[in-house]
Amino acid sequence: MKKVIIAIDGHSACGKSTLAKSLAKELKYVYIDSGAMYRAITFYALQNDYILEDGTVLKSQLLDDLNKINISFNYNSVTGKSDTFLNGINVEEEIRKMNVSKSVSAISKLKEVRTKLVDFQRKLGKHKGVVMDGRDIGTVVFPDAELKLWVTANIEVRTARRYKELLEKGQQISLDEVRDNVNFRDLQDSSRKESPLKRANDCKDIDNSTLSKNETLHLAVGYANDAIVSH
Ligand code: C5P
Repeated sequence: MKKVIIAIDGHSACGKSTLAKSLAKELKYVYIDSGAMYRAITFYALQNDYILEDGTVLKSQLLDDLNKINISFNYNSVTGKSDTFLNGINVEEEIRKMNVSKSVSAISKLKEVRTKLVDFQRKLGKHKGVVMDGRDIGTVVFPDAELKLWVTANIEVRTARRYKELLEKGQQISLDEVRDNVNFRDLQDSSRKESPLKRANDCKDIDNSTLSKNETLHLAVGYANDAIVSH
């Protein structure tokens, strides 16, 4: 069976990665979390004090270091998921924390950061058979992807899901703080100059506000099978 590229885009915390992971498993494809890459560079910038208290990014310092930043993914047999590594160190837990979520949009808007990561993402998708989620996968990274999904859910549903996830990871946070961060990132990601978050014209829409994970997966598998058969 011919392998295809499946691009999944949408706003923050709409369930893209949950869907992308389960869809990849179902199709025996590789799942690639492009958001983890932007988060890893943000974590690097925070660790090196390239992001000041007021949110200012020391851009030239970060850009000077860009070719020293190596991101990779390794399968974790304990969790059954892939972990993100930054220069050989597992940062999976760190990159999901609120300090990274608060600064990531300021890093992901930088052209040079995007160029580096888009290049990496295209290399990972070279042989197809990948499900990649993010903000610009169907519009910029793989404009010719055989299947593009645009996932949405209403803001209260998205906030509640992300809040639950963070609580389960033991993070101390309020519902309002989570909602503010989700709204803030959506606004920043959609209004930036470089590759803003936007719906591709040729995508299939999935609003999962009232759907279970299984129902969402079922819809996506249907679209994927159609795409695989027709290419
Ligand atoms: O998907 P996730 O919420 O982990 O992404 C974190 C951030 O990374 C987004 O808010 C966005 O700023 C950035 N991102 C991006 N382009 C992508 C994936 C993520 O700009 N393809």
